[in-house]
Amino acid sequence: MKKREGIPASTGIAIGQVKRVQSHLDEYLCYTIENREDEKLRFLRALDVALEELNALIASMRASSDEGQTQLAAIFDAHREMLQDPLFIDGVKGKIEAEAINAEAAIVNQREELAAIFEAMDNDYMRQRAADIRDICQRLLTHLTEKKLDKPAAEDDSYILVTHDLHPSDTVTLNPAHILGFITEIGGKNSHTAIMARTKGIPAVVGIVQLLDDVSDGDWIILDGESGTVILEPDESTLTHYRQLAEQFAQKKAAQNQVRFAPSRTKDGHQIELAANIGMTEEATTAMAYGADGIGLFRSEFLYMHQATLPSEEEQFIAYRNVVQTMKGRPVIIRTLDIGGDKSVASMDLPHEENPFLGYRAIRICLDRSDLFLTQLRAILRASAFGKIRIMYPMISSLYEVQEAKKWLAIAKDSLRKEGIAFDPSIEQGIMIEIPSAAVIADIIAPEVDFFSIGTNDLIQYTMAADRMNEKVTAYYNPYHPAIVRLIAQVIQAAHQHGKWVGVCGEMASDPHFASLFIGMGIDELSMSPPAILTIRANMQQQTLADLQKFAQQVSALTTSEAIYDSLQAAFH
Ligand code: PEP
Ligand code: MG
Repeated sequence: MKKREGIPASTGIAIGQVKRVQSHLDEYLCYTIENREDEKLRFLRALDVALEELNALIASMRASSDEGQTQLAAIFDAHREMLQDPLFIDGVKGKIEAEAINAEAAIVNQREELAAIFEAMDNDYMRQRAADIRDICQRLLTHLTEKKLDKPAAEDDSYILVTHDLHPSDTVTLNPAHILGFITEIGGKNSHTAIMARTKGIPAVVGIVQLLDDVSDGDWIILDGESGTVILEPDESTLTHYRQLAEQFAQKKAAQNQVRFAPSRTKDGHQIELAANIGMTEEATTAMAYGADGIGLFRSEFLYMHQATLPSEEEQFIAYRNVVQTMKGRPVIIRTLDIGGDKSVASMDLPHEENPFLGYRAIRICLDRSDLFLTQLRAILRASAFGKIRIMYPMISSLYEVQEAKKWLAIAKDSLRKEGIAFDPSIEQGIMIEIPSAAVIADIIAPEVDFFSIGTNDLIQYTMAADRMNEKVTAYYNPYHPAIVRLIAQVIQAAHQHGKWVGVCGEMASDPHFASLFIGMGIDELSMSPPAILTIRANMQQQTLADLQKFAQQVSALTTSEAIYDSLQAAFH
């Protein structure tokens, strides 16, 4: 028996026999070519075939009756965009031209250059995009070399797949009826392969180096997708232990599946919206997989980060449209650019500041740089013709900023109208309540907007004067402080007095105790990381609004953080 630890990529326990799968695609020949134009044509032909193949794959996924398949199509939409990206195409052609090498070699060189750029990024999600570059290149190489990945035969019995790397294109074809789970030697938690595994419910562990050297076809193996542990040739008592764990997991999953697509309602029928926070377009797929009622916060700044130039209107429009189409009629709140603070944008060259969290941030930049703001507003409006989009302005501190932002939206609408471009004329506009001044005058701002979303992450930092990034003051960054509870209660009351709805999209929303408290206070929407939705929804189903209201009243009378903390713990143990 031998234990190996990897990165847990998709929960679940699999016990079965190993099937090793190896890729031969890197065994291509690099040679000098005579005719550069012919070689470029060879590349372009392979590109055409790869695009046709992707189009067919996307169409069949979108037409599928399997909800999971239709959601995953967005990942291949992104592959199609990458394959059509002039940067990629010109890069490969340029290498053929400059180095007189065959298309395979030029693709692999270009692949490694681009993958290295992604792998050097400081954001894990962006680092994982290198795997997508490798996937599209594999697709091209397949057509050029006629070599394919060793695919396990469909009629094989069930097994655990062990492979060096698994591309999304391979993962999408995996049949959960035969694949008990998979383990790869490389990869990360946020790779598309991991996202697909989670969506398809296939347990997976990634990043176990040189595992292929340790296993042979037919070996018994245990894969624990929760902890990332893999056990080779387990003994009888380990097998018995993991069989019990697998049974418990199956029961937990069955219980979660029951709430996944159930309405977000308390025991006595009070409904609120349980939405997802996302930062990348593809994460909408995950939100759907966890049964989100909508997207409560799309942090659009991630489109601006980690790239050399600002995203164009077209680029943004495609991203927003992808999200809203993936959400299939459910509402999507797109927050306008929120940079500054801990988020920097290389292409903007923002000045260094002594106190970036108190500085040139978010709406302050947008109102100052109307070119940037208008581009984004036009892109959001254009996407609103394809589904239910709401706009949200971040870091609002005064009525004036709301009125200014609304003016720019009116200008963006006018310009589209003149160009005859469709959009939702009655698109809802709301603001983040994350600066105490806005919370205090919520009753003054409410008539100007359609909704509020309380950003507790910043609201705590500004109310408590405790930098959310500074470990030394973590104790001061206190969500249990009566000032926080009071501000949230005031904002909810102010919104409702003016007939507006109000949500919470900061991290507090995903804490089951606070979520219950907020429901008791009358919150209309809670937005959180997708997996938290299941826990919060399951909790809601056990509680009644009447009880939660009573509890909220008790909590609002408490005067210290300790008392609030204790009562939350005691009420929900
Ligand atoms: C917040 O401040 O609570 C929030 C949701 O926004 P961000 O974490 O992106 O600042
Ligand atoms: Mg914030």
